[in-house]
Amino acid sequence: MKGYGMFCIGKPGWLEKELPACGPLDALIRPTVVAPCSSDTHAMHGGAGEKRNRILGHEAVGVVTETGALVTKFQPGDTVVVPCTTPDWLAPGVQNPVSFAHDERPMGSFKFLSSKDGVFAERFHVNQADANLVKLPEGIAPEAALMTVDMMSTGFHGAELAEIGFGDTVVVIGIGPVGLMAAAGAALAGAGRLIAVGTRPNCVRAAKEYGATDIISYKDGDIVQQVMALTGSGADRVIVAGGNQNTLGQAVAMTRETGIIANVNFFDAQDVLSFPALHWGLGMANKTIRGGFCPGGARRIEKLLAMIANGRIDPTKIISHRFQGFAAIEEAFALMDQKTPDLIKPVVFCGDLD
Ligand code: NDP
Ligand code: ZN
Repeated sequence: MKGYGMFCIGKPGWLEKELPACGPLDALIRPTVVAPCSSDTHAMHGGAGEKRNRILGHEAVGVVTETGALVTKFQPGDTVVVPCTTPDWLAPGVQNPVSFAHDERPMGSFKFLSSKDGVFAERFHVNQADANLVKLPEGIAPEAALMTVDMMSTGFHGAELAEIGFGDTVVVIGIGPVGLMAAAGAALAGAGRLIAVGTRPNCVRAAKEYGATDIISYKDGDIVQQVMALTGSGADRVIVAGGNQNTLGQAVAMTRETGIIANVNFFDAQDVLSFPALHWGLGMANKTIRGGFCPGGARRIEKLLAMIANGRIDPTKIISHRFQGFAAIEEAFALMDQKTPDLIKPVVFCGDLD
């Protein structure tokens, strides 16, 4: 079968692979709609360490083509939503209720592209299908469901980690697709003033639609000063969903005493995250710093789908480009890599892969 991925760091392309094996608890899936993510391009550039001949992609809705002997809830022909994080539910790490992202090791539940081939393939493998797959509910468009598996789950996790209370002043740093879902999640969680940091015009427009009350640009000078000018004493909560190794320090500086900084941005292994002690209230200001990874598993995705079904959110506003045909994964991936000014999130409708 064919799959789009990386030959090695910096070399993306089409790979030829054997069909994956389906274990007794597992399923094989034919993708119908997929989306590239910043984490795919990040991995291609080496951000996830050395990888060779690895199919990329971790956001998919598809059709079950094969199930293992012990799978009871799914059968070939079912259309399913596939969480990007598919924990091994027997591993002790997932019994920690804070996040299901860390089964056997930190972020171990993120298996696609990280420890096995991803979803940009004619067929891909899902472990423990009964606990990790969700049937596509009637009335929800596949592209809307696709936005739950990573963008909503990760962005909303930023809002969850930030423990937003009614009326809190919240800053979301970065309004790519992840930050936009963090902003939407913060608004739904009760933010009062909601300040978003970013510049791409599409993203700025979407941020306002999702509830941002103020937009500031990191290109117009120090964002800490801009937040201080708007708020006087800083934000109650800051969600980091973009930026560079200086951004965490800026987030700490713009957070008021007793506030929470919640990070969902991927930093590079060589980044050094540091800030002056004064910005952390000399260690006495009770400012909490957290970082988390996209929660997964079926129940998580069912809950996010319920938010779409009940009209709480329309995540398709973040879809800026729609491609037709499996071969278009290459073009969509290149677009994600270049981050053109009109880009938010591209999706690819795979077409007939039988
Ligand atoms: P994008 O690149 O689309 O968006 C990044 C945002 O950050 C943009 O709004 C950009 O502004 C802004 N930005 C860039 N530089 C700065 C800066 N110096 N200061 C402040 N803001 C800045 O990324 P995505 O939304 O796709 O992903 C965001 C991050 O989340 C990535 O690191 C990704 O790998 C990570 N991620 C994490 C997951 C998790 O589980 N924790 C899961 C999925 C993704 P502009 O508008 O100018 O472009
Ligand atoms: Zn992702």
